[in-house]
Amino acid sequence: MKTYEDVKAKAEKEIARLEQCIKDVKKNYTYDLKCPQCKETKQVSVFLIKVQYKIYCSDNCRANAWRDKKGLGTYSRQELNKRKQKRDEIKKEIIKLRNEGLTFAKIGTKFNTSRQRVEQIYSKMTKNDS
Ligand SMILES: [Zn+2]
Repeated sequence: MKTYEDVKAKAEKEIARLEQCIKDVKKNYTYDLKCPQCKETKQVSVFLIKVQYKIYCSDNCRANAWRDKKGLGTYSRQELNKRKQKRDEIKKEIIKLRNEGLTFAKIGTKFNTSRQRVEQIYSKMTKNDS
C-alpha cells in the first residue's frame, strides 16, 4: 500500500534531484569571454542574467574602460578598493548621523554634497537592511 507520505517524499526527492541538475547545467555551460580592458579570458555562464550585455569581465574593468575613454587614466584594484572603503565609511557615517537626528541637509553640508544625494544614499542603505 502506498501512503501519502511515501509518495510525497519520493516526489520531493525527485524534484530536488532535477533542481540540482538544472543548477549544474547553468553552472557548466560557460563560454570564453575575452575582456577588452584587461585582455584576460574568463569563463562566463551563458545563464548569467547580465551576460548578454556583458563586454567586460568585471565592474572594475568596465569603470577603467570608461575612464580610459574619457582620458582620465585607470585606477589599480587597490585604489578602487580604497575608494569603495571610503564610500562605505561615508555611508555608515550618514546612517549614524541620521540616527542621531540630523537633517539630510545638515548631513549634506558636512559631506559637501546635496540634501537629495544624502537622502538617496540613506534610503538605499536602509532599504538594503530590511
Ligand atoms: Zn577585465
